[in-house]
Amino acid sequence: MKTYAKMSATYAPTLKEDPVEAELASHKLLLRAGMIRRVAAGLYSYLPLAWRSIRKIEEVIREEMEAIGAQEMLVPMAVPGEMWQESGRWDVYGPELLRMRDRHERDLVLGPTHEETFTDLVKNELRSYKQLPVTLYQIQDKFRDEIRPRFGLMRGREFIMKDAYSFDADVEGMQRSYEEQKAAYARICERCGLKALPVKADSGQIGGDTSVEYMALADAGEAALVWCECGFAADVEAAKANIRVVEGPGEACERVETPCEGSIAALAEFMGVEEAACRKSFAIIAEDETPVLCLLPGDHELCEVKAEHAFGHYDVMSEEQMQEYGLVKGYMGPIGADERVRVVADVSLAKSKRWLVGANEAGWHIKGACPGVDFEVDEWLDLAEAKEGDGCPECGRALKAARGIEVSQVFQLGTKYSEAMGATFMDEDGKEKPFQMGCYGIGVSRTLQAVVEQSHDEHGIVWPVCVAPYEVEVVPLDVKGVVWEAAEAVANELVKLGVEVVLDDRKERAGVKFADADLMGFPYQVVLGRRGVKNGTAEVKDRKTGERSDVALGEVATWLAERIEAQRK
Ligand code: ATP
Ligand code: MG
Repeated sequence: MKTYAKMSATYAPTLKEDPVEAELASHKLLLRAGMIRRVAAGLYSYLPLAWRSIRKIEEVIREEMEAIGAQEMLVPMAVPGEMWQESGRWDVYGPELLRMRDRHERDLVLGPTHEETFTDLVKNELRSYKQLPVTLYQIQDKFRDEIRPRFGLMRGREFIMKDAYSFDADVEGMQRSYEEQKAAYARICERCGLKALPVKADSGQIGGDTSVEYMALADAGEAALVWCECGFAADVEAAKANIRVVEGPGEACERVETPCEGSIAALAEFMGVEEAACRKSFAIIAEDETPVLCLLPGDHELCEVKAEHAFGHYDVMSEEQMQEYGLVKGYMGPIGADERVRVVADVSLAKSKRWLVGANEAGWHIKGACPGVDFEVDEWLDLAEAKEGDGCPECGRALKAARGIEVSQVFQLGTKYSEAMGATFMDEDGKEKPFQMGCYGIGVSRTLQAVVEQSHDEHGIVWPVCVAPYEVEVVPLDVKGVVWEAAEAVANELVKLGVEVVLDDRKERAGVKFADADLMGFPYQVVLGRRGVKNGTAEVKDRKTGERSDVALGEVATWLAERIEAQRK
């Protein structure tokens, strides 16, 4: 029979002080509330309270996956290195992939994601178009040997992920599977109590063309976003913004002495123009060793992800290399650079005719320089990082900036893995074709912490009902006599009504109990004192609003059960 939990028997060692190892509010609170403990860098134990919340998040995921016909299963965490060689990722994934040798000297990897494992699974046994589509998923620990594990569960090395893989016969099918997962992911965020935005994303190491990330909005988030009232939102790494172009000063190409510091801000001030009227230069060496000069609007930065797409793993040019190619730090520009330098400019500048650029001589710039006349641009590319105030690519209004925590991501993979690994099926026309795939990941442990990051106050965590470890904490101020009897009766009644209850049965001072209750942050506290009980009332505190209500002892359980039921989603 179900019963209430006792606080005295709950393993939740709370901390009075902020732990020094934590910077983020959510990380501090999960540690202080006795919910997680660090084992080593990026490795955490989930204590009983956190585990209850994790299981609730997983349940939400399971329900939503079942609703769209995805099937749960489990593959091993350790996977043969061969599969990663077959897909081609063995050589490109880098040191985040933990590689091991077993006793037979065979390569193994600890799965950071499982496109290979699932593609290999269906490769010989999902044979006919008649069996498609199929979507399989699992909820499992992943391992990524992150260079900077930090912020607790936000960026762990071992973390819990739900990962799904869809197999379809054609592109339209894949798009349907993708849209279904995407819609389910929106519902999962909502049901877990997260305020999240779907944003267009770069598809990174996973590959493929189309991808959306769900970003939980939080100032402490690692991702920089731009969004618009029209519904557009994108990671700055992927956003193609409409950048307002400002022409530079000068009617014709002319050298100007600029005895100011070699920064855009100083140059703009000296010339009496806005920064956008200057052209910023970045000198890099592309993966294929070509020296490249990237020219951008003066008020924008080079987007690293876009630059990687264009130039591969590039390096910033050293001062020696700059000298070799006739470029002068702080005064770089396309005019006077060595012939070997490839000049690439941001596509937003394509129509601009008067550029203020460095003269490749300390203390000098060139104004009124015109591309195609005074210098050549070898290629126009999207290189600038989008920022607040740029035009929305969909409606033109000014973009706004926000920060977010990536909690999940969906990808259309196409045939990237099925082709590399020879995973084919027999189509209606009798031809062997590679599966059209999609993959879909949710950071379960990161979601838990994102909820706390979005929902806390100076006293502690404020759990939304849907993922709270317990829904109600009963706090008797006496653990004997009439108060205790009333507390047990209320707790039992709540359990009968299907509410998850913890009863603080500890012989602690009221202040300690109240502080812990606020820190752990269960949605409702039922406080029972001698005077109230004698008058036949309990005081209910809503953790989120702080609102206190006196409710008759005989009614408090139903009163709470109704409110909780309405918030369960
Ligand atoms: P990030 O950009 O934050 O490194 P990612 O884009 O590499 O993440 P995916 O491959 O999309 O991650 O993995 C799916 C989900 O797994 C992510 O949306 C995120 O919620 C979660 N996740 C990824 N890396 C970590 C990590 N180191 N710790 C905790 N959760 C993670
Ligand atoms: Mg991602």
